Amino acid sequence: MRVGQGYDVHKLVEGRKLVLGGITIPFKKGLLGHSDADVLVHAICDALLGAAGMGDIGLHFPDTSPEFKDFCSLNLLKETCRMLSEKGYSIVNIDSTIFAQAPKIAPYREQMVDTVSDSAGISGDRVNIKATTTEGLGMIGKGEGIAAMSVALIE
Ligand code: MG
Repeated sequence: MRVGQGYDVHKLVEGRKLVLGGITIPFKKGLLGHSDADVLVHAICDALLGAAGMGDIGLHFPDTSPEFKDFCSLNLLKETCRMLSEKGYSIVNIDSTIFAQAPKIAPYREQMVDTVSDSAGISGDRVNIKATTTEGLGMIGKGEGIAAMSVALIE
């Protein structure tokens, strides 16, 4: 058994779609990034790569590469899982937390679990997604960005 953790943060800006856990959420702003800036999926990929001792998402999917411009991050997750299984690893479980002052994440939580677990090729009971605000404190609380943390156990 091996454990890994991942953390990511992206800036919230106008004129971008908000994509979290592969789901497009109606909101006045979206996350800025080279890909679709799916901060949750990026944190999950980093947790999985960390558990496998395979570096990080920037190493495998560089944000300077035109190939990954506006890329659906679920494809990064699929590729990450493929690389892990190539090394003989399977996922025990993934637990994640989204840090966002707004929008409310709860209505989309189940759909995110389904989407992430489908892309990772594992059953939904192996994926948990939580969300919290920061009680108005700091950059998250001011709505300047959204962050996500994830822990993954593999065997
Ligand atoms: Mg990222």
